[in-house]
Amino acid sequence: MDKEIMWHNISWEQAIKKYDSDIEQGLTEKQIANQREKFGLNELPKEKPLSNIKIFLDQIKSPLIYVLIVAGMITLFFQLYTDSIVIFAAVFLNTIVGFFQEKKAYQALGALKKVVKTEARVIRDGHEKKIGEEELVPGDIIILSAGNKAPADARIIESHNLKINEAALTGEWLAQEKSPKKLNAETPLADRDNMVYMGTIVENGIGKAIVVETGHNSEMGKIAISVKQTEEQKTPLQKKLSKFSAKIGLIIAVLCIYIFIGGVMEGRDYLEMFTTAVAVAVAAIPEGLPVAMTVILTLGMSRIVQKKGLVRKLISAETLGSTSVIATDKTLTLTEGKMKAKEIVTADSEISIETEDEIELFKRQANKEQILAMKIAVLSNEAFVENPDDFYPVWKIQGNPTDKAFALAGAKLGFEKQKLQKQFPKIDELPFNSENKFLATLHATTDENLLQVLGAPEKILDFSTKIEIKGEQKTLDKKYRQNMKERLKNMTERGERVIAIAYKKIPRLRSCGSFGGQSKLKNEVENLTFVGFIGLKDPIRKEAKNAIQVCRQAGMKPIIVTGDHKLTAKAVALELGFKIKSENIMEGNDLDALSDKEFGLKVKDIQVYARAEPRHKLRIIKAWQDKGEVVAMTGDGINDAPALKKADIGVALGSGTDVAKQVSDLVLLNDNFNIILAAVEEGRAIIDNIRKVITYLLSDSFTETILIGVSIIFCLPMPVLAVQILWVNLIEDGLPGIALAFEKKEKDLMKRKPEKRNISLLTTEMKALIFIIGLITDILLLGLFFWLLKFSGYELPHVQSIIFAALTIDSLFYVFSCKSLRRNIWDINIFSNKLLIFSWAFGVIALVSALYVPALQTLLGTIPLNLFDWELILALGFLNIILIEATKWFFITKARTIENKNQMC
Ligand code: ADP
Ligand code: MG
Repeated sequence: MDKEIMWHNISWEQAIKKYDSDIEQGLTEKQIANQREKFGLNELPKEKPLSNIKIFLDQIKSPLIYVLIVAGMITLFFQLYTDSIVIFAAVFLNTIVGFFQEKKAYQALGALKKVVKTEARVIRDGHEKKIGEEELVPGDIIILSAGNKAPADARIIESHNLKINEAALTGEWLAQEKSPKKLNAETPLADRDNMVYMGTIVENGIGKAIVVETGHNSEMGKIAISVKQTEEQKTPLQKKLSKFSAKIGLIIAVLCIYIFIGGVMEGRDYLEMFTTAVAVAVAAIPEGLPVAMTVILTLGMSRIVQKKGLVRKLISAETLGSTSVIATDKTLTLTEGKMKAKEIVTADSEISIETEDEIELFKRQANKEQILAMKIAVLSNEAFVENPDDFYPVWKIQGNPTDKAFALAGAKLGFEKQKLQKQFPKIDELPFNSENKFLATLHATTDENLLQVLGAPEKILDFSTKIEIKGEQKTLDKKYRQNMKERLKNMTERGERVIAIAYKKIPRLRSCGSFGGQSKLKNEVENLTFVGFIGLKDPIRKEAKNAIQVCRQAGMKPIIVTGDHKLTAKAVALELGFKIKSENIMEGNDLDALSDKEFGLKVKDIQVYARAEPRHKLRIIKAWQDKGEVVAMTGDGINDAPALKKADIGVALGSGTDVAKQVSDLVLLNDNFNIILAAVEEGRAIIDNIRKVITYLLSDSFTETILIGVSIIFCLPMPVLAVQILWVNLIEDGLPGIALAFEKKEKDLMKRKPEKRNISLLTTEMKALIFIIGLITDILLLGLFFWLLKFSGYELPHVQSIIFAALTIDSLFYVFSCKSLRRNIWDINIFSNKLLIFSWAFGVIALVSALYVPALQTLLGTIPLNLFDWELILALGFLNIILIEATKWFFITKARTIENKNQMC
């Protein structure tokens, strides 16, 4: 298409003509294929992937690696080639492993981004459909509705109070009202009120438009081409880890300086002391940590995706893991969202419409009000059928569950929406939102206009002054009102979701065209004539009851926040196994009446919030957060955005609006509550595994540092050579450390209590464990060393070889202890992690090679060991692990008694 067209400067009819489209029918299959050929997919230019070189260099940018590089250079300078070879080999190995892990992580993240697909409502071949936004072509007629992103640049055809937030494009935060009017050619982009631009957000209203530019040609596309790739943010956990490494780096530096100065002052060779200090530095640095961390995070996130949860931002895993309150919607998360119309209740009648027989009965016997109620429900609801020409059981219906139920019930009972639409064309509408809790549509009839209103019963009853009985309008007096409330109570107590239906005839204001904006339509919603209730039933998800139980077992409090009626909510909650009484339920209005302080006193007792509006969610979150709880909150609507932001974990429903998804941390791709639990579990697993790796690597570092430190203090010879320390750390420990990252989740993850907010990676328990493990190992090793020196008659290199082997064996044994910090080694399957077994085998082979392969003997200064030495080493290894497990056992039982005590309190 001609690039010069100023779409805002031509009428919408002209725009339609340019693409040979049709306002009612849209494009045909053939036209679409042609346009696709010409314009391609409606996609923004792809972000450039991070270059390999950049990822590679990123690996080197770490304080830990800096220390290694400096050490390597200095050893090179002093011509200590063996050490520098080992050190540079280690740097290289680390960078390579890190590089591949990170690359995998980026690919995984890229895949995550692709999963959130935005859909567009489009009219094609005469029917409304939902398609992926990338499938749009110029000429497509689209429907824009509140909460969704504009999928392409489009020229407005119809606007019902359509307001668009164009901040993404213009930086202007005030939503612009759109209208179809033609504008001057000079109108700047920000003022083109007859256009919508890709990526901007519909804040309000509903409208129709014709797509004029897609993909690269859209305004957003033009910008995207010029904008460079955005940097991937580090996760809070990674930031925390960086700080942690820096701290360790500092401690190590101090220690090494001490070892160097201390040794030299004792009169040892300064070159030997220097290499030892370097070796200790290398030993103490947990090199494997950053890589293990990347592995753990990426694995965790992709496991959440497999469970159909999408982590939009790399939220801190510790936040997920320490979630303690989960506030959830009812519809779709806990229920199937497959609502079915059950009955119609009017002032003087009730009729069931569930089974085939009942439907037949309705067709024969329905009275005037019952028919009117269904007519209104069918005509006004926002659901649309993609294939209305097919038989209704195979319909593909789009829309919210309530609207879908009406569309389907209508079809079964013999109401044809298309026919009704022709008879009463829609002129204007006020879409449903969870704040208003009703919707209104305005229709033209031959001599007047008809306003139809559907919504929450209390609201509609309030708006009504008349009631329709036997085809006549009567005043809705106290008696009738009481009667209707009584009927409503019966319905809600059965767990039905009740929608009230009313209408009003108003004189025609204009011969044609819009009614004059939505605000005016809202003002007309009064003095209605009440028709009746339709009761809907939404079965709870099979797995929901169990999920609520799991949630409790995991120490989290489930809370339902629903817009539905109090009694409906209560019935559903009971069905889900909540043990609730009236005092555990609060309505939005009651909440409004409480001050923050009063609410704070009550919040712990409330398990269900009924007739809640999005703004109430904010207060609920705040009240819990003030109590130190970590709150996850679900939401789907545009008005839920602030609450989703405020929650520690904002959870958007996959079926929700783009706005909700955009501000959320987690998207539930199939809306299921279970996914939240799965995400929490993965969050806990991430923390768990990070701790295992840290405990393993740090206790190794600690052991080695103390071993050298003590030898210096007691003026003993070096128990192991510098280059041997390097070997242990870089070749023996590295792989098992990373393998621990692949540990499977522990079974009891969801039986533990959530951890406190802002937990540290290194708990007191871990510190004690690292300290005690190091101490035990050192005492054993130093004892052995001393004994060998005094009584064995071995040469020093032989003794050092034994200590070297013992050190390696200890850490190779001990890695199995780190598989669980909460259970003893005899309570777990030590073979469960294949990678660990593999890296363990590799470690053993490396050790044997180090002792028996001549080249390595020269490099490492080792001497082959005899059978007695091995017996000694293995015995020591077993003794060590027994002591370590005993320590763990002590901590485990202690933790258990504390937990039991807490539970009793
Ligand atoms: P929730 O999301 O918790 O189920 P909603 O805010 O969607 O609650 O609904 C609140 C009330 O608004 C419902 O009880 C019902 O009476 C009414 N309502 C919901 N959806 C519709 C709709 N599509 N059309 C008319 N009324 C609706
Ligand atoms: Mg809802």
